[in-house]
Amino acid sequence: MRILVVEDERRLGAYLRKGLTESGYTVDVADNGVDGAHLASEGTYDLVVLDVMLPGKDGFEVLADLRAQRSVPVLMLTARDAVEDRIRGLTAGADDYLGKPFSFGELLARVQALLRRGTKRRDIEPTVLRMAPTWSSTCRAGAPRAAVGPCH
Ligand code: CA
Repeated sequence: MRILVVEDERRLGAYLRKGLTESGYTVDVADNGVDGAHLASEGTYDLVVLDVMLPGKDGFEVLADLRAQRSVPVLMLTARDAVEDRIRGLTAGADDYLGKPFSFGELLARVQALLRRGTKRRDIEPTVLRMAPTWSSTCRAGAPRAAVGPCH
């Protein structure tokens, strides 16, 4: 599972990279909104952790760019009391938010929950119909041609 973290605070970005890597994820960190939007739009990530306050493009602009082309789950990081940011983020297509400062344990739990939902979404996509295998070519000569199933 690949996670993109878009966070300009170097220490927090490094902390998230370390914690998520230790939890088994492959992590890239972008430290500004322009790089974050570019990387996220490549479509190689299973989840994006997106800070609101970013240089270049803010989190809402990155989210708008991303939602124009991708449905990847997005967890937004907002200031603790910024209710308007949370509402704006959820309205703009974020899947969840977490107020700063947060505990890594809570972030990890939300990341895992979003990835589970993402997996379920994929599960309900139409499955490819496979042709039933035919065994007739391995049957002895003389076996009925209409026989279905392996020769015993
Ligand atoms: Ca920030």
